[in-house]
Amino acid sequence: MVCPLCNSESKFAFAAKGFDLHDCVKCSHRFTAISADETHVAEVYGDEYFSGGGAGYSDYLQEGEMLTKRGRMYAKILEKYSGKKGKMLDVGAAAGFLLKGFVNENWNGTGLEPNAEMAGFGREKLNLDIKQGSLEEFETNEKFDLISMIQVAAHFYEPRKAFEKAFDLLNENGFLLIETWNRESLSARIFGRNWHEYSPPSVLQFFSEKGLTDFLETLGFAKIARGRPSKKISGAHAKSLLKYRLGDNFLLKLIPGNLNFPYPSEDLFWALYQKK
Ligand SMILES: [Zn+2]
Repeated sequence: MVCPLCNSESKFAFAAKGFDLHDCVKCSHRFTAISADETHVAEVYGDEYFSGGGAGYSDYLQEGEMLTKRGRMYAKILEKYSGKKGKMLDVGAAAGFLLKGFVNENWNGTGLEPNAEMAGFGREKLNLDIKQGSLEEFETNEKFDLISMIQVAAHFYEPRKAFEKAFDLLNENGFLLIETWNRESLSARIFGRNWHEYSPPSVLQFFSEKGLTDFLETLGFAKIARGRPSKKISGAHAKSLLKYRLGDNFLLKLIPGNLNFPYPSEDLFWALYQKK
């Protein structure tokens, strides 16, 4: 199977949850060896992903307030580098809470979300412009000043196509904001094959910060800033993640579902790229 970033040969690395993970022999990108299409997106990001627990969100809507705050935080970071609040496209917008944070900071925002239920929620309840679909298949004549991909890139089944599309949709000097997991982070190294992100088929791409940047530079992006988000997750979400990893364990009953916990995000980073 060829590397979804650089098209070079890959070799088997190890198996996770019944799927083979491969490493590219040239750019060392790690990915789930899977043949995927639109059906896959619809299945994995179906309603189960948001409400069924497991690798998805136990109750995504409960995370809403925190996500909106995070959107505001990113809007403020953007303001520092872009100097203006323009038109943005939030890829994998889900119910739109993060996008709402940008809109509250006066960005003109459009969301793109494969899950119909989530997209509908954002339109009806949050009054946002959210279109149903994937970036790879998205057709528009509009151009954007910012494209955001918050915890989305790892789920792309055709990452090259998605990032090329993002490049095309951006205005000159437009920004690409990515928040994703770092396979070469300390926690990923410590946990090894048990790292929480090795959860195919919902997670397909396992980037390193350097690998992602090297790849984006080949497309014409330049990295201009990076950092680590601080993250809080709800007790219900924490329980769901732990249950997925540990199975039913009586200790999980001790975690209150309605409290928010700081989440160790040493293995999560954000990076801001600019189209050159
Ligand atoms: Zn490669």
